[in-house]
Amino acid sequence: MDQKELLKKTAVEMRKALLEKQVSAVELTEATYKRVNEVEEKIGAFNSFTKEYALETAKEVDKKIAAGEELPKMAGIPLALKDNINLKGYKTTASSKILENFTSPYDATVSKKLRENLVPVIGKANLDEFAMGSSNENSAFNKVHNPYNLNKVPGGSSGGSAASVAALESAVALGSDTGGSIRLPASFCGISGFKPTYGRVSRYGLIAFASSLDQIGPFGRCVEDIVDLYETIAGYDEKDSTSLNMPVGNISKTFKNDVKDLKFGVIKELMAEGVNDDVKKAIEDAVKIYEKLGATVKEVSLPLLKHSIGVYYIIATAEASSNLARFDGVKYGYRTADAKNLMEMYTKTRKEGFGDEVKRRIMLGTYALSSGYYDAYYKKAQQLRRLIKEDFDRIFKEVDVLVSPTCPTTAFDIGSRNEDPLAMYLTDIGTICANLIGAPAISIPAGFDKGGMPIGMQLISQILQEEPLLRAAYNFERETDFNTKFAEL
Ligand code: GLN
Repeated sequence: MDQKELLKKTAVEMRKALLEKQVSAVELTEATYKRVNEVEEKIGAFNSFTKEYALETAKEVDKKIAAGEELPKMAGIPLALKDNINLKGYKTTASSKILENFTSPYDATVSKKLRENLVPVIGKANLDEFAMGSSNENSAFNKVHNPYNLNKVPGGSSGGSAASVAALESAVALGSDTGGSIRLPASFCGISGFKPTYGRVSRYGLIAFASSLDQIGPFGRCVEDIVDLYETIAGYDEKDSTSLNMPVGNISKTFKNDVKDLKFGVIKELMAEGVNDDVKKAIEDAVKIYEKLGATVKEVSLPLLKHSIGVYYIIATAEASSNLARFDGVKYGYRTADAKNLMEMYTKTRKEGFGDEVKRRIMLGTYALSSGYYDAYYKKAQQLRRLIKEDFDRIFKEVDVLVSPTCPTTAFDIGSRNEDPLAMYLTDIGTICANLIGAPAISIPAGFDKGGMPIGMQLISQILQEEPLLRAAYNFERETDFNTKFAEL
């Protein structure tokens, strides 16, 4: 089979090719690495590779196929793992100098599940340092380039995960989403990315950024791949105290049903000024498709949404300042070469090990938590978070799925928002709310702008309502062909 045709397949199609013995899992893995050799220099999607592990896993898959044994859904499918998720025996750097030489002594729960399901992990995908960013420009290592236009950012913070799928360097990927880090890069790179309900997927072994917002989720080229990978990694985990002890359900059985029973709400505030014309038009067209499919659509207003960025940057930085306190040169990774005493060792290690954005967040968070400002900032932010949630709860009594652009613009030029952290923070205006309220949300391809860059549509549903959300996403995908387009590389 032609290499590129093989790699353009969705995971579902790859599985079929494996089961029909058109290709072996080892051949599929090797074809993936060949592609990586061809394009990775231009893309920069990976921090490191896990070839031995991938090939060993693929061999296991081939043995099972030869023996006619039952195969887990994602077995043999090449996957990119965000480099803030631990994989035993391999480096986990979080794209930070402070963890540059850190080797994971254990598997994250999702990595353990990938291992049990015989998913070949191709490598550790690049990200913004400690997942802080929207463009992947905050990596301490390489910049990641958007496969659709190498001068543009892939989105962040899971930019490497998304770019690898879009550049055919993997079929699927895992990322983490604290304020949009799965959905935004999915939208910029023309693929699908899904953040499940907070607590659905274990965070054990994910390097913590903001623990009350972080959630691991899948990237894929079609909604079915997203469903399969989600079902592979979801479920209760006693090692994560915030993990939900509830059945995940069997979405794969029903997500192809129609959407006639669903009520959609278009978020007025996210279609207002500042939204690029092409993006707005794409969402308006999408809404017409849902109407054509027999769903009900109306406009809804969430007046408190405008506070979500402010609330997020207090809560996320406060939690980050606490979570990142552990990187002190004693227990993990980098330690400064010369320090005269313990205090100097701490300060020099952190000064030399963390990048600018991470330092900015630690300072902001420490400030918001300090005794004189706690009530004015942190407490206020928590109160507003609650009110935003109530705003959404009210709307979810009227509609099942909320619709908006994932981002007001398509991918921007590398370097264009670096000097202005606030402009960068505003990139996440559409995505942050889902993390603040813990709700599931997905970004799916919804068109291209005049310059040929992908547009993403975001769908959000009430907590635990993954089924109608993914059903809505699937029905739109079936009616359109945006997800079958590829970047010319
Ligand atoms: N862009 C947001 C931030 O910089 C979200 C990051 C994320 O979801 N990990 O914090």
